[in-house]
Amino acid sequence: MTDRKYLGFDVGGTKITGTLADETGKIIKRKEVKTKKFLGPDALVSQINELSQQFGDYDDVSVIFPAPISREGIVLNAPNLTGWNSVNIKQKLNESFGKEVFIDNDATAQAISVKIFDKGKRYKDFIYIVIGTGIGGGIFLNDRIYRGSNGYAGEIGHMVILANGPGCGCGRRGCIEALGSGRAITRRVIENIGEVRKSTFLSSISPTRLVAEDVFSGKRLGDPFSTLIIDEEIYYLSIAVANLINIFDPAAIFFGGGVMKNDRTFLNDLEEATKHELANYYREVPMFKIKDETIDLAPIALAIYERKYEK
Ligand SMILES: [Zn+2]
Repeated sequence: MTDRKYLGFDVGGTKITGTLADETGKIIKRKEVKTKKFLGPDALVSQINELSQQFGDYDDVSVIFPAPISREGIVLNAPNLTGWNSVNIKQKLNESFGKEVFIDNDATAQAISVKIFDKGKRYKDFIYIVIGTGIGGGIFLNDRIYRGSNGYAGEIGHMVILANGPGCGCGRRGCIEALGSGRAITRRVIENIGEVRKSTFLSSISPTRLVAEDVFSGKRLGDPFSTLIIDEEIYYLSIAVANLINIFDPAAIFFGGGVMKNDRTFLNDLEEATKHELANYYREVPMFKIKDETIDLAPIALAIYERKYEK
C-alpha cells in the first residue's frame, strides 16, 4: 500500500492544479492549467482528463471543486463555474476516466487534509474554517468528516450572523461569508470611499486593485480605518466561531485561507474575541493555522480517506 500513487485535481475559478503524490504526502509532480470555466462541465472534464495524461501511472484519482456537491455527484450551485446547475459531475468523470473518481467540495477536502497531513491527526473532533475570497469549512466528528444527509454539510460560510446584513451569493443576507471573507473586507472598504480618502495609506491604493491583505497591512501600519475594518472582521468571525463551539464542542479549530495568512496577530485577536463572545460558556479551544501543504494535498487526502473509510 505504501507505494500507492494518488493523482488529485483542485479545480478553482481561475486554474486547475494537478498533483501526484504518495500516501505520505510527498509530492512527485504538480502541474497547472487555466480553467476553461465558461465552456461548461463537459469541456472541463476533458480538460482534467488531458491534464491527467501528463502524470504517468497512478492508482487513484480525485477532483475537488469550489461548490457544494452531493454524495451522488450533483453540483448544488457553482457561482464560479458556468452551466453547472444540476450536473452529475461524478458520473461524467467516472465515464471519462473509466474508473471511479473521488470528488468533493474543496473546503471539505481541505478539512480531510488537516486530519491526514496536519495537526488534525491529534483530534477526533475538530472544525476547519477557510477564509479566502469566500468562507467554507469542514467538520470532523469522532474521526470522520461529517457530510450530512446529502453531502452538503460544513457550509460554515452561510451561517447568518447579522439579520438583514449584506447580501450573500447563496441568496441570504448577513452570512459570515458576506461579512468576514476577503471579498467582504474589500467591499466594506470600497463602500466607505469617504473614509478611504481620509486614510493616507488606503487612498494610495487604487480601489480596483485593493485586496484584503492591503487592509491587514494598513492595520499593521496603524491606519485607523484599516484597523476598524479588520477589528470588525474579527468580531464577526468570533460570533461564527463561538456559535460553532457551542454547537459542536470541538477539541480544536483550524484556519486556512489567504486572508490571514500573512498576519501574525490575527489568530490571537480572534481567540480573544471568541473568548469574550462565548461569555459564560467559555472553555479553552486551541486554534491553529494550517500548513500551506495541507491545502496543496487536499485532493490527495480525499482519495486516501475515501479508500480507507468509504470503500
Ligand atoms: Zn450565504
